[in-house]
Order: sequence, then structure tokens, then C-alpha cells
Amino acid sequence: MRALLVIDMLKDFVYEEGALPVHSARKIIEPINRKIAEFRSRGEPVFFICDAHDKEDEEFEVWGEHAVEGTWGAEVIDELDRREEDVVIKKKRFSAFYGTNLEEELRKRGVDEVVLTGVLTNICVLHTAADAAMRGFRVVVPRDCVAAIDENAERWALMHMAEVLGAEIV
Ligand code: ZN
Repeated sequence: MRALLVIDMLKDFVYEEGALPVHSARKIIEPINRKIAEFRSRGEPVFFICDAHDKEDEEFEVWGEHAVEGTWGAEVIDELDRREEDVVIKKKRFSAFYGTNLEEELRKRGVDEVVLTGVLTNICVLHTAADAAMRGFRVVVPRDCVAAIDENAERWALMHMAEVLGAEIV
């Protein structure tokens, strides 16, 4: 069983007026919606992984304040086809597995392969890919469904995911 993980496609990261906009994230919205439709049509689960920080999170020392739980910026963008039956996982760190029940939610659905989409390729996607690989999940990253701020960092992250973590970049 596969699961689709839509990582941090939140207003603070995608919209220009957000706290930490990734300008190239706009172009991955439609490809992610196509993936969501594909997974739904096969009865495979869709997970929304959402940064949800406390008001004075230590991560803000590096990145500035963003995605504070309960604020506008921490909401999933309106353009994505999110539904009631989807699983929402709130996280406070880069990895979607750290301090969350993601692994349990995947295992109880019989998931053995995660397809990672969203932002940023070299931060939350990368760290989630690493933690998924450490736990024995197959990892697939569709190139047209991830985005980052820095192109070189993104290129390195994709290479690292492929060569070191054994992820399939498609
Ligand atoms: Zn964050």
C-alpha cells in the first residue's frame, strides 16, 4: 500500500504574503492535486503533514516566526483538494516522523511506500525521507511535486535522497 504525503503546503510557505514564501511552490500545486486525485481513485490514503509551531519555538531563531499553530499561515492552502477523510499530521520539527504518530498511522493502513510531495525539498522533505527510509518504508519523490528556495540545495537534496537514502526520484 502506498500513501501520499503532502508536506507543508501551508499559506506561510506558498503564498507571497506568507511568512516564509517559497516562490517556486506555486508551480507544484496542480501536479500535487493530480497526485491526490490518483491516490483517491485507487483508494490509497492521503496525508497532509503540517508545520504547527508553538508561539516561541526555538526553530524561529534560524527561520523566523512561521506556521504558528492556529494562525492563518499554518493553514493548508485553499487550492489543494483536501477532504474530510484525509489524515492531518501536525509536526514541530523538519521530520514528519519526529514527535508525531505518523508511523503508527501508516502502519495501521498497511503502508510500505510513501510518496513525498511539498516543501522544502532540502529541509522537511529530505528529513522526512531520511526518517521514512530508516523505518523501512520505500520512498518515492516525484520531481515535479517538490519545491525549494535554493536550487543548488534542492539538487543536492535530491541526489542525497537517491544515492544515500535509496529513494526513487521520478
Ligand atoms: Zn517550521
